[in-house]
Amino acid sequence: MADHYEVLGVARDASVDEIKKAYRKKARQLHPDVNPGADASEQFKLVTHAYDVLSNPQQRQKYDMGDQGGGFDGGNFGNFGDIFETFFGGGGQSSRGPRSRRERGQDALLRVELDLEEVIFGTHREIEVDTAIVCETCSGTCCQPGTSPVTCDICHGTGNIQRAVRSLLGNVMTSSPCGSCRGYGTIIATPCVTCQGQGRVRARRTVAVDIPAGVETGLRLQMPGSGEAGPAGGPNGDLYLEMKVRHHDVFSRDGDDLLCTIEVPMTDAILGRTTTIKALDGDIDVVLKPGVQSAEVITIKDRGVTRLRGSGRGDLKIGVHVVTPTKLDHKERELIEQFAARHKAPAPSLSHFQQGLFAKLRDRFIG
Ligand code: ZN
Repeated sequence: MADHYEVLGVARDASVDEIKKAYRKKARQLHPDVNPGADASEQFKLVTHAYDVLSNPQQRQKYDMGDQGGGFDGGNFGNFGDIFETFFGGGGQSSRGPRSRRERGQDALLRVELDLEEVIFGTHREIEVDTAIVCETCSGTCCQPGTSPVTCDICHGTGNIQRAVRSLLGNVMTSSPCGSCRGYGTIIATPCVTCQGQGRVRARRTVAVDIPAGVETGLRLQMPGSGEAGPAGGPNGDLYLEMKVRHHDVFSRDGDDLLCTIEVPMTDAILGRTTTIKALDGDIDVVLKPGVQSAEVITIKDRGVTRLRGSGRGDLKIGVHVVTPTKLDHKERELIEQFAARHKAPAPSLSHFQQGLFAKLRDRFIG
């Protein structure tokens, strides 16, 4: 075991003040918050133990007389803690060293409303987010510039207070988080004024996002690292964007297919006609063949929604709804009567109630 005086770098006749000063200097360099390496952590323990012994006059005297500290060897604290935990359950963060102020930031959830047009090909959005960002004044250190955290005098930087507890096994050492530094091992004596020592501030941030084509209401896009900054310079959480696709008056959606209805005057249905419709992505010529029936579906390939997974686009499905004229003048009625007399259509006849695709399409519009 290393000599306590050497560990602290003080003379054997050093005063209590000199020992304290030396310890503070070492602890500041080696503290896990500043120096996260495993080596530093081991050295920090050594330094802290040396200080524990030499700052206590009785223990220092014993140590000087050649007693190496017996059962109070710092390395054994952990074992005692483990035994204690095994038998009594819990015991908290016993002998685990100081906890870090750094924590991961919260995830954030934001709802994004999209028009169906934007869903077909995907879109780019600049989204304003009220969030936490790293404090620019202290860069997340929580300290006023030029200052740094001071080792806690109560726990000497360990973040824990050890005490002996009487138990079935006799006296065992247990530890609990230091109340003075709340287990951090350090105290921020001069907190950053900008962030009140939090290392982060509330701010409005703009997040640029490419929303892929084919998203649906309820779908969540994860943006790793775009959530809130963590306390004390901790890593950012994630941002989730929940999609909401606005209702469209004409077009609805069935997976990657787009659905709509075209109302066709009876005469066009009889004679046939090519007509231009305004789809969400431009004009389309729709061919109504002579004799087209109500409930027929005209499929326009590859004019639906771009697939979110896979490639290509769905189809545009147009349900035909033949509209019968309701008001005829005298002459028109005469013409239709002449037509009927000549055409000799069969009498109306019964068949199964129509539950064709068009009926389903219409249900979807209503739903
Ligand atoms: Zn700050």
